[in-house]
Amino acid sequence: MLTGRIFDIQGFSVHDGPGIRTTVFFKGCPLRCAWCHSPESQEFPAELNWMEIKCAGVERCGKCIAACPQGAISPAGTRRDTLTDEDITLVRVDRKKCVGCFKCAAACVHKALYVCGKEYTVDELMERIVKDRPFYEQSGGGVTFSGGECLWQPEFLLEVLKRCRAEGVHTAVDTTGYVNRRFLEPTVPYTDLYLYDIKQMDSELHKRLTGVPNELILENARYLASAGAKFQIRIPVIPLFNDDEASFEAAGKFILELGDAVEVVQLLPYHNLGVVKWARLGRDTPVFEAEAPSDELMQARKAQLIAMGLNVVIH
Ligand code: SF4
Ligand code: SF4
Repeated sequence: MLTGRIFDIQGFSVHDGPGIRTTVFFKGCPLRCAWCHSPESQEFPAELNWMEIKCAGVERCGKCIAACPQGAISPAGTRRDTLTDEDITLVRVDRKKCVGCFKCAAACVHKALYVCGKEYTVDELMERIVKDRPFYEQSGGGVTFSGGECLWQPEFLLEVLKRCRAEGVHTAVDTTGYVNRRFLEPTVPYTDLYLYDIKQMDSELHKRLTGVPNELILENARYLASAGAKFQIRIPVIPLFNDDEASFEAAGKFILELGDAVEVVQLLPYHNLGVVKWARLGRDTPVFEAEAPSDELMQARKAQLIAMGLNVVIH
């Protein structure tokens, strides 16, 4: 049976396309952006997460230690319990010993250990999507397929898009654009809007900070525009990567080439709120660290693109 691997579904989303939306996050991504704030989206296999704040501690619980057949979990570290004002002993997962059986997560009633990445059938996902239909109808919203890269699970995505069209649900596909054309093409008749990142026009620099060059991404954007698709172009504004005037000049020129296909350009200021998520996965936090761009800079870049004739918003 056809299934898709999803790591989150968020209702009441207001920044992923028009109106109130349900955003479905697909697991797995071909890019490795240095500033990534959702590291749980990157790898395709399901992953074990541990959230320190929810752990009840070895003294009162410790069920995960007994549940792990690999002996991969042991007591380690402490934190002050705010309720009892006592130190509690936490646990540590040895990722080298872990085989991903997730027996510990099943044993953890406090949900400190949890699995990121769940299989859905098309029917199961559709059931969740149509549940929010009253919100879509009131607000002109719909569903947004995001990730990770939703087009890296192309058969599943296409089937769900077709079902949404049959149900009259507005669809948006949030893509990196780094996908094979043969997977992109069939989605066009069933996608009302593409949320499409233009991160940096210099391919070398793009590759250095995201892991992939940008030629395929730009080619696919041109293809989609010629095929009659509609875009919300997104530019994540990243210090020292693309926040300068010249980078915006180049991006603006490219976006203008796409013509009427572009409904709006959305500027997304860099933030580092996702740092804590790396620790939950037991991975080292990436070295990329920067100050969020100032309001003045965001306004200046917005004004620059507006002066070029583009419709621009900041979120
Ligand atoms: S089972 Fe969960 S709450 Fe209990 S010690 Fe392990 S991680 Fe903490
Ligand atoms: S997922 Fe890893 S840590 Fe958890 S029980 Fe299985 S082997 Fe042990």
